[in-house]
Amino acid sequence: MEENESDIVFGGSTWKVPDNPSVPFVYGDGIGHDVTSNAMRVIDAAIDKAYGGDRSIKWIEMQAGEKAEKETGSRLPDSTIDYVKKHGLLFKGPLETPVGGGFRSLNVTLRLALDLYANIRPIKYVNGITSPLRNPDNIDLVIFRENTDDIYIGIEWKYDSKEAGEVRDFLKSKMGVKIDQDAGIGIKPIGKAKTERIARMAIQYAIKNKRRSVTIMHKGNIMKYTEGAFREWSYDVAISEFRDSIVTEKEVAENYGGKVPEGKVLINDRIADNMFQQLIGKPDIYDVILAPNLNGDYVSDAAGALIGDIGILGGANIGDSGGMFEAVHGTAPKYADKNIANPMGMIRAGMLMLEYFGWNEPVALIDKALEKSIAQKKVTQDIARLMGCEAIGTKEFSDAVISNL
Ligand code: NAP
Repeated sequence: MEENESDIVFGGSTWKVPDNPSVPFVYGDGIGHDVTSNAMRVIDAAIDKAYGGDRSIKWIEMQAGEKAEKETGSRLPDSTIDYVKKHGLLFKGPLETPVGGGFRSLNVTLRLALDLYANIRPIKYVNGITSPLRNPDNIDLVIFRENTDDIYIGIEWKYDSKEAGEVRDFLKSKMGVKIDQDAGIGIKPIGKAKTERIARMAIQYAIKNKRRSVTIMHKGNIMKYTEGAFREWSYDVAISEFRDSIVTEKEVAENYGGKVPEGKVLINDRIADNMFQQLIGKPDIYDVILAPNLNGDYVSDAAGALIGDIGILGGANIGDSGGMFEAVHGTAPKYADKNIANPMGMIRAGMLMLEYFGWNEPVALIDKALEKSIAQKKVTQDIARLMGCEAIGTKEFSDAVISNL
């Protein structure tokens, strides 16, 4: 790719970012326009405050979603995919995906097009927001969800399709497996190389950020060669590549009297159903969670609910040559264009993006401003109903955060 002075150069966890980078963005469907435009205002104001005009983002709008379909006939025009692939970056509002038919998830298409194999979701309790738990104060999790494997890549055939019939015939004649004639069929691949690269990223993250543990979440007792293999390959990476920095739960019990030695990251694993009950009962003992795609999807929404609401969570999709930053929530269509939705998820997505830029000063400013706004009970309705206070709109909340910077 021919480099331009506003292009970012990617290199694993360290990116080379010019002072005025071009950042492609998509407003998104439903509440997308409300939350994305307001998040961008907050991000711009924080950068300006931190760097006094020496740094800024050049936002470049990309077409995707319902608006793109109306204007170009396609929900994800090739020009958007090409541009995003070339620049390796996207700040993305939520995009609609129909259930049970229709077009394929644009979010998944974008993640796969850029090979953004890790979906990283930090989940930390924010003082002042009412949680359904009695002791939420110590919830501080980072979920690493695999993005390019497992059922989300969408290998599926409708029950009455020719392909489903052929798969059923193959399974019966070659494998001796009988599947009901009225069953749709999905395939769940989990690969060694794809598991190893996300395990490596999660463990590296834990070591670099001095986290206490990495817990592999799997359903390997039932799906032995997919989820079970995810567990085995993750342990193999931990032991073969990070031996001096990690300790396994078995080693802690057998060699260290049940106490993790100082400076080591504990590697353990939990079966998926147990992981859920553990997180609800004692979320504070978990730290980094490493999960295949579907488990990671379920657990991040559930963990989000433990700190109040998924409307406040941001996520990063990271690969070796770029990143896509988005809120964890979707398009919440009932709140579309009503100035009601919480922009915190997109603001947090922006904060993660700035962290990858190495621009930590505006991140710290926004973090404090969000806490201050919540302490002042200046919150949108999703949080106001938890705190029992009066709600303000998306724009007014963003104004409050900006004035608290
Ligand atoms: P959703 O859009 O996340 O909304 C579910 C509920 O969460 C809303 O009804 C609302 O709860 C609350 N909520 C979500 N975001 C909020 C915000 N910013 N502020 C306040 N409340 C918020 O999930 P969904 O209804 O399952 O999905 C809708 C569409 O979004 C689907 O087409 C789905 O495929 C898509 N989606 C896209 C992405 C993405 O782009 N990455 C992610 C997830 C889903 P209350 O009703 O309790 O107020």
